Amino acid sequence: MKKKLMLKLTYTATILLTLTVASLTNQAVTVISQQMDFEREICFVIDPGHGGVDGGATSVTGKLESAFNLEISVRLRDLLHFLGYQTKMIRTTDVSVYTRGETIAQKKMSDLKERVRICNETSGAILLSIHQNTFSDGKYSGAQVFYADADNSEALAKALQKNLVNTLNPGSNRQAKKAEGIYLMEHIQCPGVLVECGFLSNVQEEAKLRSAEYQKALCCVIAATAVGFVA
Ligand SMILES: [Zn+2]
Repeated sequence: MKKKLMLKLTYTATILLTLTVASLTNQAVTVISQQMDFEREICFVIDPGHGGVDGGATSVTGKLESAFNLEISVRLRDLLHFLGYQTKMIRTTDVSVYTRGETIAQKKMSDLKERVRICNETSGAILLSIHQNTFSDGKYSGAQVFYADADNSEALAKALQKNLVNTLNPGSNRQAKKAEGIYLMEHIQCPGVLVECGFLSNVQEEAKLRSAEYQKALCCVIAATAVGFVA
């Protein structure tokens, strides 16, 4: 597709998305178009966290984090495709992506290395890693965005955190944070953010995270921000 046409389509789609999110939440998403150094074709690498032997956290109703992550990631992939962007899914079913290992610990490490390899081998990659949070105290809620060391990650995370707060978590004072001790985020060479969409330990938020409507709203905010960022 010609670049000008692509930009026009992207612009139109971003407005449509913004209006969709605005009508969902009565709040507008701030679409940030920054002059970033994205010279290559963009490919959003979507990482549904965990999977297979590693289910991640368990929600208050007993649903595994890996299942929430996959459902939201599939919706995000479809939306980004609709907007004309290339995507690559790290997994599309309930599997761990390890290539070697006997013990669970070895398989988990192999899985993480494989996720890093996929990101680092993809030309023009921008990583969107989807996770859910949990805490021993059920009162905590709200999405939080973490960023990788790689260039442009922090700015994307801050824009996304702001948009998530303004649209879906009004009143939240959560801030974007640097991802520390997260293997994937510390080893990728491309821009990357990890979105903890909400708390599976909070009864109200877990119910929202299970609903198609809320998952769609989350994806609208993530996609609109990511697309606005590279447009
Ligand atoms: Zn997780």
